[in-house]
Amino acid sequence: MVDTPMPAGLPTATADPTTMVAHFIDVGQGDATLLEFSCAAVLIDTGGENTARVSGRDRLSRYLEEFFERRADLARTLHLVVLSHPHKDHTDGVSVLLEAEPAIVVMNVVDNGPPAPRASGGKGQRDLQSYAAEIEGVGYVGLAESDIKTVSGATSDIIDPVNCKRGNTGVDPKISALWGRVDLDTTWANDANNDSVVLRVAFGKAVFLFTGDLESQGLSAMLESYAADLGAFDADVLKVGHHGSHNATTADFVTAVTPRIAVIQSGESSPDDETFSAYAFGHPNAKALKLLLDTDSGVSLDRKSPKLVRVGLKGRSLNGNTPPDFTYWTMKKAIYANGWDGNIAIKATSDGRLSVETEY
Ligand SMILES: [Zn+2]
Repeated sequence: MVDTPMPAGLPTATADPTTMVAHFIDVGQGDATLLEFSCAAVLIDTGGENTARVSGRDRLSRYLEEFFERRADLARTLHLVVLSHPHKDHTDGVSVLLEAEPAIVVMNVVDNGPPAPRASGGKGQRDLQSYAAEIEGVGYVGLAESDIKTVSGATSDIIDPVNCKRGNTGVDPKISALWGRVDLDTTWANDANNDSVVLRVAFGKAVFLFTGDLESQGLSAMLESYAADLGAFDADVLKVGHHGSHNATTADFVTAVTPRIAVIQSGESSPDDETFSAYAFGHPNAKALKLLLDTDSGVSLDRKSPKLVRVGLKGRSLNGNTPPDFTYWTMKKAIYANGWDGNIAIKATSDGRLSVETEY
């Protein structure tokens, strides 16, 4: 197993209440993003990979332990845990939260409701729902797309339990959900990826958008439902949908977001890996990257220095007989991927400045 190095010299939000840090944790192939505020922490998804080479659970556990050691003031509390949808690469680490010693306290849970019986990550989602039901005072929302009534999305004390404003200092981040479970009986809505909770986090002028694994049909239905005002999608940092898959980033969506930085939570691709890996899927895919590199609406900032990165042209065939295909590009724009960059931390100040640390 390859060890994820411990964070060192990471910018912390403690000292400066006008700062937040989004930690895109390298859990291999899967999503896990920890939002660090001066008075609170939020975890979006609990991925990751579970192959002979990578244990997403171990990596998540180590990262959280290191985090809570550094931020002892948070008393091992996650003010909110969001599970975007019940697939294993997003829910596999729920056990890390529920089995932690000493306990990790989860105060609020947002997911997309009861998982389908055969959902690969249904167990994690159900376990967290049981925790929320059994522990008094834990807030829970199972969000359907139909619960979202306005173009600013849905919010509540459970979806947005964080307020770090104290007198004249600190910031009250605004957290809202822009999408959730789709209760339509259409083929695309039966794909759990399209039922992903989409989360928007505005920290002063810095806006982060987390899209779960929403695929193209879900993206276009979502944009259509916000046709009156697409402003909620205008973001500085985009967590790219579905690990940079070929079918989860569209031109319309990128135009609505116009990101300054994009982050892809795909694993390092190694031919040794098994079925559910960045290697097998060919992630991140050239098609998504090309859209993110669009000169008008794509990622506007540059990386600190260009990097030669591995880009998927296609995934392995369904029967496994044809291997995936990759190429190499020199990435100059501020597109980051855990498989290229290891752990990724983006520090944002409330006046909208962004800085990125990788490979720590
Ligand atoms: Zn996924």
